[in-house]
Amino acid sequence: MSQPLPTLFLSHGSPMHAIQPGAVRAVWEGIARDLPRPKVILIASAHWETDLPALSGVARPETIHDFYGFPKPLYEIQYPAPGSPELASRAVGLLKQYGLNATSDPLRGLDHGAWSPLLYMYPKADVPVVQVAVQTPLGPKHHVDLGRALAPLADEGIFIVGSGHMTHNLRERSSGAPAAYARQFQAWVKEKIEARDFDALVNYRALNPHGVRAHPTDEHFLPLFVALGAARDGYKAERLYDGIEMGSLAMDAYLFS
Ligand code: ZN
Repeated sequence: MSQPLPTLFLSHGSPMHAIQPGAVRAVWEGIARDLPRPKVILIASAHWETDLPALSGVARPETIHDFYGFPKPLYEIQYPAPGSPELASRAVGLLKQYGLNATSDPLRGLDHGAWSPLLYMYPKADVPVVQVAVQTPLGPKHHVDLGRALAPLADEGIFIVGSGHMTHNLRERSSGAPAAYARQFQAWVKEKIEARDFDALVNYRALNPHGVRAHPTDEHFLPLFVALGAARDGYKAERLYDGIEMGSLAMDAYLFS
């Protein structure tokens, strides 16, 4: 029998974290160390956007270097974890049962939203990884449904992870102190997560005065909703990290158990 696993949301940061992880490194390493070994990692990344729900169904996913103008060593990194076409098709089945049309993509590899944190969480790249796409125009509530549909897998030792960002305003990056609005947004989200107030969270753009500023577009926030939707009812939320980088990029990580 496999052990049930919690679900996780993490902020993956700039691609530079793959070579200069900084303070979040110990957090990412600790997550994997403290959990039973997953059978498969099912990771929703903000960097894979599709029209319809999709999962990567590749046996040997390639490492995608989906960024431009970064130092050469970053383009040489490989994360050779196997995929799991079996789990991808099982997940497609669960989504369809739930009423969501979904497909398994026979080509999609792993983008840096997935492999950059996984380099530290599972450095041996020996746990199979399946990516889950986000559908940005369909908004937060749809991603809660995606998570709910996939939730049974967490009870079977599949590690469901959302990889995005707590705040993601790239235009407001600075070398200065963390922006007050980003701190306020972090605190509001923490309160709503702890209260399991999904109604407020899915309406964050309307209800939080800083919601739109924190996420000028919301693809980087959507993986949070996948992790929340997949969490068990009555979950306990543990915030593992709350650093802010470049003034406006909150790096929160949450475990839902
Ligand atoms: Zn990103």
